[in-house]
Amino acid sequence: MQQDLLHRYLFDNLDVRGELVQIDNAYNEMIAKHNYPEPVKALLGELLVATCLLTATLKFEGEIAVQLQGDGPVKYAVINGDDQQNMRGIARLQSEVTGSTVRELIGQGYMVITITPTQGERYQGIVPLEHDTLSKCIEGYFEQSEQLKTRLWFATDTTEGSAKACGLFLQVLPVDKQKSIEDFAHLEALSNTIKDEELLELDANTILTRLYHEDNPRVFDPQPIQFKCGCNHEKTMTALVNVGQQALLDDVEKNGEIKISCHYCLKDYVFNEQDIKSIFN
Ligand SMILES: [Zn+2]
Repeated sequence: MQQDLLHRYLFDNLDVRGELVQIDNAYNEMIAKHNYPEPVKALLGELLVATCLLTATLKFEGEIAVQLQGDGPVKYAVINGDDQQNMRGIARLQSEVTGSTVRELIGQGYMVITITPTQGERYQGIVPLEHDTLSKCIEGYFEQSEQLKTRLWFATDTTEGSAKACGLFLQVLPVDKQKSIEDFAHLEALSNTIKDEELLELDANTILTRLYHEDNPRVFDPQPIQFKCGCNHEKTMTALVNVGQQALLDDVEKNGEIKISCHYCLKDYVFNEQDIKSIFN
């Protein structure tokens, strides 16, 4: 099975667009070594799929961040991506995780979607988290912000090393409103028959044929998705400036070096006295 791909498709006679995402490598890299509780891994998987799906609906070049934040056990969970489907993500816990729904994990909170185009204005959409599932939260976001009927289906397998995160997406095309609503209802009923195992185990063509064979989906070339952190020695060094020269030098004297771990990929960056002095020169 070909993994880590985003498939987009349209239908010959139906005013609806669809997307299918299947991710394994990028998802495994994202959760590796973080020791997240199972429900947090699943939430990050869904958030990763959602970010890929959202990125594909936007005609833009730039970056996107989809963040959930609240007063629950998970302080925040965020995926950062771009139009090339380079993705990274992290969750921060502030207390013991007991439940598994979005509400139980995030508590009272918000979903914040930030789009930063390479050229043009930055856009931020904020919606309160009013549903138990991430799919319902995102469907609500589209209805509220763009008045576009949208449905998402997620499936995750959180087995470390062979984890998978998959998703299916339908959205009306804003053409003929009455027709698009009927078209959407037709495809939604078909898509509702998808089982988690099918999304996780079958290849994209089999899934699309199984669901929509009578409606001739026209599938575009798939786009690869990859985990890419983007951290490096120089950026980490620049971030150290805020700490202040004396505090850093004191730290070096005490510990011999300064070790900074990237929160996302857990890569270590080490700085010695000379490095610290060079930052401030
Ligand atoms: Zn990193």
